[in-house]
Amino acid sequence: MSAPNTAAARGTSPGRPARQCSHWIGPEARHCGAIDGVRQYIPGYRCPAHTPNALQGKPETPPGPGWPKLARPAVDTPARASSPRQPTSALFVDMDNVRARYECVVCGAVEGPVYGEEDVLAFAATIRTAHPARCPGPQEPRS
Ligand SMILES: [Zn+2]
Ligand SMILES: [Zn+2]
Repeated sequence: MSAPNTAAARGTSPGRPARQCSHWIGPEARHCGAIDGVRQYIPGYRCPAHTPNALQGKPETPPGPGWPKLARPAVDTPARASSPRQPTSALFVDMDNVRARYECVVCGAVEGPVYGEEDVLAFAATIRTAHPARCPGPQEPRS
């Protein structure tokens, strides 16, 4: 089965500029004009062989809508505290000052802070299981 390569398949409808690769091939003194697999890039329409990345010898970025996100929120931030699912505990590890602290939302207890790399690592590794084992459970809110 041969792929149709008619004018209709090329998308050359009247009144609209055809999607053709606009890369200028200097040695041949012409535009590329390829229509297969042409996508719009910052400089214009380009065929797979002439994308900005291809011309620089870089791997293609996957097709996606619009521009890459420059500022992407970090995944592991306190922002998750505002998620619908209420966290039951929070472990804070500050490697800059080598300290760690654990807060239990259920009972309101605060464990730590502990200092020193060894203590911090041990604390971080165990407190998530150690505290629930001795957690007294939800405390009645005092009004
Ligand atoms: Zn081209
Ligand atoms: Zn607790």
